[in-house]
Amino acid sequence: MNKHDTALVRSALDKSGFTFTEQVEQADVVLINTCSVRQHAEQRVFSHLGHLKHIKKGRADMIVAVIGCMAQRLGDKLLEHEAVDLVCGPAQIPQIADLVAKVLQDGQKKLAVTENIRQTAHEEQDQALEKFESTYGIEDKQIPGQAFVRVMRGCNNFCSYCVVPYVRGPEVCRPPAAIIEQIRKLADTGVKQVTLLGQTVNSYKYKSGERTCCLADVLAMASDIDGIEWLKFVTSYPSQEFFDPILQVMAGSPKVCDYLHLPAQTGSDKILRAMNRNYTAGDYLGLLDRARATVPDIAIAGDFIVGFPGETEEDFQATVDLVKRARYKNCFIFKYSPRPDTSADKRLQDNIPADVKKRRNIELLAVQGKISGELSERFLGKQVRVLVEGLSKKPHLDLVESKGEPQLVGRTATDYIVVFNGPQSLAGQFAKVKIARTSPLTLFGELT
Ligand code: SF4
Repeated sequence: MNKHDTALVRSALDKSGFTFTEQVEQADVVLINTCSVRQHAEQRVFSHLGHLKHIKKGRADMIVAVIGCMAQRLGDKLLEHEAVDLVCGPAQIPQIADLVAKVLQDGQKKLAVTENIRQTAHEEQDQALEKFESTYGIEDKQIPGQAFVRVMRGCNNFCSYCVVPYVRGPEVCRPPAAIIEQIRKLADTGVKQVTLLGQTVNSYKYKSGERTCCLADVLAMASDIDGIEWLKFVTSYPSQEFFDPILQVMAGSPKVCDYLHLPAQTGSDKILRAMNRNYTAGDYLGLLDRARATVPDIAIAGDFIVGFPGETEEDFQATVDLVKRARYKNCFIFKYSPRPDTSADKRLQDNIPADVKKRRNIELLAVQGKISGELSERFLGKQVRVLVEGLSKKPHLDLVESKGEPQLVGRTATDYIVVFNGPQSLAGQFAKVKIARTSPLTLFGELT
């Protein structure tokens, strides 16, 4: 979601005449797009700001803008930082070019965030975001041949540990016609894969007269667009609502990729209640069973938080059991860190020692690593189709004589990362790769 915002802001600034530099010392304007989901992410922003404060000593004319969730969360407190000239929340990004121009012109610090984000309706703001999204979304191509399209903003779930509802505001779903129009334009520019984005993307619904359009309908309409070959969507919330229609469209359309990111967060019903997640471990596993019954080759990824307040060894073992039963392709595992103003932070003591969180994190990663390794091995000797992203960032051992060709990275429809040697010109194209070696998170092969 943040990468998408960055692309929109970049596109808007580009259109208003700014040029980009990778050299921070050369910049007149530095923008930091921020995430508040974890404490660590916010700490990194402060460390960047410390560095920028230093640079600004020799560059008094440079301005620094902090945008995104941390800007909304901290508001004027962030503006007090010596290095910061502009604080702009996620809902104010349509004004970013004007705000930057004003600060450059008059040299005054500026704050642009939403007051009472949960209490009042913000219709004008929503309309501005819709216009911004559809105007600049066309440029949103961070990886050749791929694009993100946001279908909804905000969240109404209030998981007790999560800051998102307080910084992104209530759930607002975009009109299906605008989404489809945007995807059509992206297809016209050569985009082959579109990922639909939402905090709880599977709960997307848009009421128009008697009819309610859900995510399955959007996926079906998008599947009819020529040029779009793969459709993905992230992130799903484990609720019953609209779950089966989404699986059916996945099973029925070759374009809707057989991939589901479905965070469970914990396998303990007691901790799920404390997290204010509205399902039990049994409900969750029931959804996975239904997914696998409808889409047999579906790849499922999960998210977990370890060391949530009150998590006993027994609770943690319930998580280990769930991970073993779920057989995820991969999992994102995080150590709990309290986020200010969330209900978990207000009501629950962060009482799991750091070393216990660390041990549980390592143990769960090891359990998942074994499963991921077994699932990856099933690809040995098989040919997979990948959409090539570009050069591999990490160097890997070449499998075959590379013939001077660089290592490329691509992903399968089920989100497996595949590394192989090939011409860089393949970026943004589909390729077939025969898998010769596997690791838990990466498949290695040869272009066929
Ligand atoms: S569903 Fe829960 S974890 Fe996800 S964004 Fe909403 S409140 Fe946060």
